Amino acid sequence: MNTIGVDIGGTKVKAGIIDQDGHLLTQIEEKTNKQDLKTQLLSMVECLLKQGHCEIQGIGIATAGRVNVEEGLIHFATSNLPGWTGTRVRELVEERFGLPAVVDNDANCAAYAEMEIGSATQDRHFICITLGTGIGAGIIINGKLHRGENGGAGEIGHMVFEPGGRLCNCGKRGCWEQ
Ligand SMILES: [Zn+2]
Repeated sequence: MNTIGVDIGGTKVKAGIIDQDGHLLTQIEEKTNKQDLKTQLLSMVECLLKQGHCEIQGIGIATAGRVNVEEGLIHFATSNLPGWTGTRVRELVEERFGLPAVVDNDANCAAYAEMEIGSATQDRHFICITLGTGIGAGIIINGKLHRGENGGAGEIGHMVFEPGGRLCNCGKRGCWEQ
């Protein structure tokens, strides 16, 4: 059973085919298309589907920003991903390809992967910090992702470390990721 995984960041979009043991079989990477991320996402998934690696069972999408996982909706994304806020990503992908899709915050996905097949398989409580275009975190409590209000629990990059400091793209000043 293979699946497609997509990682949407403020700089790059990566997509690959993963087998049931978590091995990456093939990967493609593009610079984030800030003008039309929806079209880019669909075309990258289509490109992988055309490669014909046995049957694909589902599509997982990890994206920067706050995600409403139940609705597959981007609750809030900063100007790193312009126009992404409000996008119904799950619906978009499921309707186009007729495959089940899941969407979650990228740091949550990273933490989940570390727990399932990575360096935290022995741990039930931990925080996975991701350093990319921004700073994010996935929080695992009792072996479960803690998402918080509107998926904001791991948005530690926007904790204010320096009151009145550098302006952040979230609208506050002095955030850690600045
Ligand atoms: Zn901020």
